[in-house]
Amino acid sequence: MVSPAEPPPLKPSPVSASVDFDAKGVQHGVLTLPWSRDDSAWGSVLIPITVIAGGPGPTALLVGGNHGDEYEGPIALYDLALALDPAEVTGRIILLPTLNAPAFAAGTRTSPIDGGNLNRAFPGRPDGTVTEKIADYVTRTLLPMADVVLDFHSGGKTLDFLPFCAAHILPDRPGAAEQEARAFELVAAFGAPYSVRMLEIDAEGMFDTTAEDMGKVFVTTELGGAGTARAETVEIARRGCRNLLIAAGVLKGTADPAPTRWLDMPDASCFVFSEEAGLIRFLVDLGAQVDTGQPVARIYPHGRTGQPPRDLRAGRSGRLVARHVPGLVKPGDCVAVVAAEIDS
Ligand code: CA
Repeated sequence: MVSPAEPPPLKPSPVSASVDFDAKGVQHGVLTLPWSRDDSAWGSVLIPITVIAGGPGPTALLVGGNHGDEYEGPIALYDLALALDPAEVTGRIILLPTLNAPAFAAGTRTSPIDGGNLNRAFPGRPDGTVTEKIADYVTRTLLPMADVVLDFHSGGKTLDFLPFCAAHILPDRPGAAEQEARAFELVAAFGAPYSVRMLEIDAEGMFDTTAEDMGKVFVTTELGGAGTARAETVEIARRGCRNLLIAAGVLKGTADPAPTRWLDMPDASCFVFSEEAGLIRFLVDLGAQVDTGQPVARIYPHGRTGQPPRDLRAGRSGRLVARHVPGLVKPGDCVAVVAAEIDS
């Protein structure tokens, strides 16, 4: 009888860390990933990392720059890496402000090295592209150490969001209810102006999905966008991150939670896409309440005058939580996201 062949075991990760994850105190270092290329024969990609360990307690993994054109998380994490004192840490905090370092340096969502979208490359491969190797290191080295994960996102250069913290509605499986409830407790503790119960429309390959499948409590954000960060959204990131660490039992102190409004993104009716190219005119702004079928944006074909514009309508009632930037859209672009209000 022939039994099916076992897949070969994964190779060791090519990434090495200059920090000791088991040492107490503050360490600022780098992850080094060999990357041989024209301008550096034996060169490497360097990814900044800080480990801050105090007394016994849980481990929080804090990530920014998963997408390279999103800035609130990196600012908050560079700041936190400078500010935190191990005496106030109960457990361990692992900070990576710019996880996709090549994308971050280029100011792009995806990596200029291999075109890789890190948040679609999970769980990654140790023998894959540079982006897949980063994902694999996170999956097999960093995630097993973590109890709680916070992955900062914003809208990047093509979306702008109402600032929110979010967690996912998890698939039904043993332990998922408790894991999900804990994630929403931390979302509430983060205290962004909005808190979202989120459904992913493109969950395959995401950091979120990999971490959640490993049983980790996973929290994410969308804190603005348009290829920059605002003073207000940076403050939300800074305060929220500390609040979450305190609520997770990793940081001493008193949380400073702000009032939050809960929203639900339950299905694909939240998303408005354009099927054509053109000049976009928003008819409502971020935060506006809209009804099902209400036009939220108008696309003007700009090749010549005299062409009627096309209205894009909300697929559900709720609040406009995201909009496209900049002023021109392409076929297939996500133009707007409408989230449902939750009474609570
Ligand atoms: Ca993102």
